Amino acid sequence: MQKACGVSRFAWNWGLDAWNKQYKAYIDSGKKKELKPSGMMLKKQLNAIKKSEYPWMYEVTKYASQQPFIFLQRAWSDYFKKKTMNGKPVGKPRFKKKGKSTDSFYVGGDQVVLKNNTVKIPNLGWVKMAEPLKYGGHINSMTITRVADKWYVSFSIDVEVSFIRSENQASVGVDLGIKELATLSRGNVRYWRTPKPLQHSLRKLARYQRRLAKKVKGSNGFKMLKMKIAKLHKRIADIRRDCLHQLSSYLVKNFGQIVIEDLNVKGMMANRRLARHIADVGFYELRRQLDYKSKWYQVILQVADRWFPSSKLCSDCGHKHTELALSDRIFKCPACDSSKCRDHNASLNLENYTACSAGSYAVGDVGSAQAA
Ligand SMILES: [Zn+2]
Repeated sequence: MQKACGVSRFAWNWGLDAWNKQYKAYIDSGKKKELKPSGMMLKKQLNAIKKSEYPWMYEVTKYASQQPFIFLQRAWSDYFKKKTMNGKPVGKPRFKKKGKSTDSFYVGGDQVVLKNNTVKIPNLGWVKMAEPLKYGGHINSMTITRVADKWYVSFSIDVEVSFIRSENQASVGVDLGIKELATLSRGNVRYWRTPKPLQHSLRKLARYQRRLAKKVKGSNGFKMLKMKIAKLHKRIADIRRDCLHQLSSYLVKNFGQIVIEDLNVKGMMANRRLARHIADVGFYELRRQLDYKSKWYQVILQVADRWFPSSKLCSDCGHKHTELALSDRIFKCPACDSSKCRDHNASLNLENYTACSAGSYAVGDVGSAQAA
């Protein structure tokens, strides 16, 4: 499997290098159409020399040396279409460095064979999976990936799905935080706390990273600690993703409209780098999950403008409390004297987001934004 990952990485790098050179030649030629590189064209070029130059590629599935060209084509097109990922524009495709990039390879559906809880890896044989596949249906492909010291297989399967739309058409505001995962404006479960194991792992991660800084780069101790950190990262991501799935499923099953913030602005200001980074990752993951799950359940997903001052407005009278400090956990309105939990107040403002005129919070106009 490691070898197949190596072939896959090599093919990607070979393709990217050839692409860069041929693209330059294409520009220099005054953009002659027949010189414009494509994934398909480069794949053919590699296939033509594979036998003589890189015979070791035949030791693994053909997909390991072919699929990277399709991914490369996609990566360039995402770049030129200015797509975004996790809120940032997609950069140019980059070379994959051994030990730095994720080890993985793709296998097309025609080479995927499953029996009970074993999967056949081309040119390797039967490998036992930790759990059997939960879904039936046509298998399009599988991807084998290494994370820290474990191997994972993910399948792309066509499945028939039907979901029951929620009876409750109420709108819910979701305030995302660092200490609390999320606060909901209404519903049976208002507060979604960051799970204890996650907090514990985060503290452990910070400790390991301090320790890593003192180790000699490349030494055995350094390598061992790096593996420990990689495992911990994986654990953190797993716990986080799991509780985000619980939250996003709860939301789409119980509400007709969901309002979330555009960016975790509070997180950006409030916290140390590590906590912030993890909160941001959580935010984009939740947004990703809500994007597809809201379509399944025909729920409206509203994203509030990033300048909408959700935590500064009084949800009772609409007064904008500009002096509210980050440390104030209770929102005490100077205008109408009501007092509320800060996060709950913010979630109520998000719930009422459509009621407030979104237009009055013009982009860049933070200071002068007034409640409608
Ligand atoms: Zn008020």
